[in-house]
Amino acid sequence: MHLLNADLHSHSTVSDGTLSPEAVAARAHGNGVSLWALTDHDEVGGQHRARDAALALGMDYVTGVEISVTFAGQTVHIVGLGFDPDHPALVQGLADTRGGRERRAREMADGLARVGIPGAYEGALKYVGNPDLISRTHFARYLVEQGICQETHEVFRRYLTEGKPGYVEHRWARLADAVSWIRQAGGEAVIAHPARYDFSPNEEYALFTDFKALGGVGVEVVTGSHTVAEYQRYADMAKEFGLLASRGSDFHDPAESHTDLGTLPDLPGAVTPIWDVLTDRIVKA
Ligand code: AMP
Ligand code: MN
Ligand code: MN
Ligand code: MN
Repeated sequence: MHLLNADLHSHSTVSDGTLSPEAVAARAHGNGVSLWALTDHDEVGGQHRARDAALALGMDYVTGVEISVTFAGQTVHIVGLGFDPDHPALVQGLADTRGGRERRAREMADGLARVGIPGAYEGALKYVGNPDLISRTHFARYLVEQGICQETHEVFRRYLTEGKPGYVEHRWARLADAVSWIRQAGGEAVIAHPARYDFSPNEEYALFTDFKALGGVGVEVVTGSHTVAEYQRYADMAKEFGLLASRGSDFHDPAESHTDLGTLPDLPGAVTPIWDVLTDRIVKA
């Protein structure tokens, strides 16, 4: 089933996307997606709405989340798929993970104020759909609005990444905890966009080894921020580590996201798609 148009990574206003869960569902369906997951950051509050919207459109749904983890000093994202969104361990773990965001955002604003950009906390808040989930993306949109940068990528490059004035070091969930919450809730864990981390070969090997030992089963191979060469590289990694392959656009917004829902190439032939093991957890339309 390689040729299934599955999009298992996308965001709504429940985290840092700009469309409602219903509007993301409609866009996915309009682009020919037949299996969809909404994977908001550190939050499952949109899951029932997303599932209902997908089913009403005749599109299969699988529950999703993207959990922020700190591993070897860097932020890594772990996607969970096919879990019970009301499972207490998962719900509590995510609430704890979201917990530090407000204070971090205030410190980010302090850093920006020091370089002559006042009011960024209040400015970012205007873009926040979920008060529990203020993210760097919301700051980026505010700085673009203010004409300080042309587009959000430029804001990240100049202001919001390590060493830049609006960057604040943050400790997210532990890898072991994130994988455990997903598994306790009956789901499967997937390493998101592995090519986007800044790991040495040894650190990357440790991430994959630890993740596998903890019971993680998947890795994103085809995703919005990977190059064609990276599809191949992580297809090879999937085979080396005995992981299943996932596919998802990481869609956030029609203008900001360079990859639209459902428009990615198919998975390379040599990998096993993660949806092969999710069949019992896919809600059929
Ligand atoms: P946070 O969870 O607050 O650290 O924000 C992380 C989010 O920022 C990611 O999920 C992306 O949506 C966005 N992001 C990270 N790096 C970039 C970048 N270089 N350009 C645009 N958006 C980015
Ligand atoms: Mn995001
Ligand atoms: Mn991510
Ligand atoms: Mn994402």
